[in-house]
Amino acid sequence: MSFPLPYPEELLYSTLARAGIRYGLTSPKQLLDEIFSSRSVIATLDFPNHLSIVANWLPDAFNPERLIDHHTLFPIYSPFVPEARRLQCIKWMLGKSHGAVHLALGVVASRIKIPRFIRYCPGCLRVQLRQYGEYFWLREWQVSGVEACPEHGRLIDSHIARPLQDRHRFVAASPEKCLLVKQSAGNVESARIGDQVRQLLKCPNQPSPAFSQWTHYYQSLAHLNGLSRGDAQINHHAVSEMILQAWSAAWLARNNLASGVSGYGESDWLRAMFRKHRKGFSYLEHIIVNYAFLGNNFQIVEVLEKVRQYPVEDLHSQIQTGKDEDQGLSIDQEDWLHHLKSYLPKQARVVSPALYARLYRRHRDWLQGVNSRRHIDGHVLRRIGRLNWGERDREYLDMLLQCAKLMKSDQAGPRRSRAYYLRMIGSKSTIEKNLHRMPLSQKFLVTHSESVEQYQIRRLKNAYRALRKQFDVPPRWRLLRAANLSEERLADSAKKYLEELEI
Ligand SMILES: [Zn+2]
Repeated sequence: MSFPLPYPEELLYSTLARAGIRYGLTSPKQLLDEIFSSRSVIATLDFPNHLSIVANWLPDAFNPERLIDHHTLFPIYSPFVPEARRLQCIKWMLGKSHGAVHLALGVVASRIKIPRFIRYCPGCLRVQLRQYGEYFWLREWQVSGVEACPEHGRLIDSHIARPLQDRHRFVAASPEKCLLVKQSAGNVESARIGDQVRQLLKCPNQPSPAFSQWTHYYQSLAHLNGLSRGDAQINHHAVSEMILQAWSAAWLARNNLASGVSGYGESDWLRAMFRKHRKGFSYLEHIIVNYAFLGNNFQIVEVLEKVRQYPVEDLHSQIQTGKDEDQGLSIDQEDWLHHLKSYLPKQARVVSPALYARLYRRHRDWLQGVNSRRHIDGHVLRRIGRLNWGERDREYLDMLLQCAKLMKSDQAGPRRSRAYYLRMIGSKSTIEKNLHRMPLSQKFLVTHSESVEQYQIRRLKNAYRALRKQFDVPPRWRLLRAANLSEERLADSAKKYLEELEI
C-alpha cells in the first residue's frame, strides 16, 4: 500500500491522517512509529516538522521544500519575518522544531488568535468526494481572517479543537467529523482577506524583506497619501480614520485588532507599523493597512515586490567609499577597497603587504585618502555594531518571553535549561558567544532557566496531577515512576516536595 500523495492545497497534516487510514492504523502511536520511527512527533496543523522524513515516503517531486510551500501555512507568515529567521524556520521544519517555528513566526505571541476549531467548507467537501473519492483539509480554511469559501459560503467549525488536544493524533476529514450542513453567505471582509491569503499561498519561496525596507515602505505610503507632515512625521489619527473607513469596527474587534486602531496608546500596532519596524507584523495587519490605502487594486504580492526594492540599511552601505572616485580604479585599488570592507587599514596592510607596497608607490595620495576615511568609518561601524547588539538583545528577549509563554501553557517537556532556551531562539553557539553584549537576554536566562531540582519538582507535579485521577494520595513509588525519577537521583528540595505530596 503506497503513501497517499498530497492533493492540491491539502495540509500535510491531512495527508498524514489519510496515510493512517490507508494503512489501517487505528492508534496514533502506530502511525508515528510507521512514518517517523518516533513516538514523540507532534501532529501539527500549520507548521509541521520532520519534513525530510515525510518526503522520503513520497515521490521525488514532493521534496521537503515543496511540502513547505504547498502543504503548510508557512507561505502566509514567511514573507513578514526577517530572512535569517525565515531560513532558520525552514531548517526547523525539515528536522525537529519543538515549537520553535510557532515562536519564531510570532504565532504564539500574536494578538491574532488562531481559529478555535479545524474548519471546513461543506460545498468543497462535496466536490472533493466527487473528484477524488475522499475528503481532505484545505489550507485556507484554517487561516485566521478567512471566514468563508468564495464559492460556497461560510466555513463550518468541526469539533476538533485547536491547538490539538490529542497531540499525537492526525485526524482526517470524514463524513462523521464534517457534517454537510447548509452554509450562509460569507462576509465582504473575509472575501478580501481570502484573495490576498490565496496569493501568498501560491507565492513561490522568496527572500523576505528586511525590517528597514518595511519601515521605508510604510513611511512613503503615508507620505504619498498626504498623511505625513514634514520629515516622517506621521498623522496617526488620519491613518486610523482610513482604516476605519475600509474595515468595520466589529470585524476589527472580532479579530482582536480594534484597540490598535481606535486607541492612542504607545502599544498600538497601527502606530508601530508607521514607525521604525523593530519586530514583524502579521499578514493580517499588512493586508488591513494596504487595503485601506490601495483599495481593490491592492495585491499583496505586488506590495512585497515593491518593499524588496527599497534599500536595506546595513553596515556595508554605511561604509561605502565615495562613489565617483571609485570609477576607473585599477584592480589593485579595487582589491584594497574590498579589503577595507572587512579590515582596518593597518590590518589590511598585514594581510596583503605586497598590494599595499604597490599602491603606496603608485597611488600614495589615493591610498592615504581612503585609509583615513576608513578610520572614521571604522568608528561609525563600531558604533553601529553596538546599536545592533542593543536591537538584537531586544529581539532575543522578545523571543525568550514568547518562549516562556509557550512553556507556561505546556507543563510537559524537557528541562528548560539555559541551553534549551538558546536552542529555541536560534543558533545556540552564536548567541552564547555574544551574550555578554546582551544584558536583557542574559538577565532573562539567569532568572528563567530551570535547575535540575526545579525540573524534578515539575515532573513530580505533573505525575501527581495525572495520578490524582486514580488515587486520593498516590503512593510514593508510583509518583517516582511516573516522574521517571529514582530515590537516588532525587535532589533534596525535590525530596521535600515529594514528602509534602504524601501528606
Ligand atoms: Zn467551498
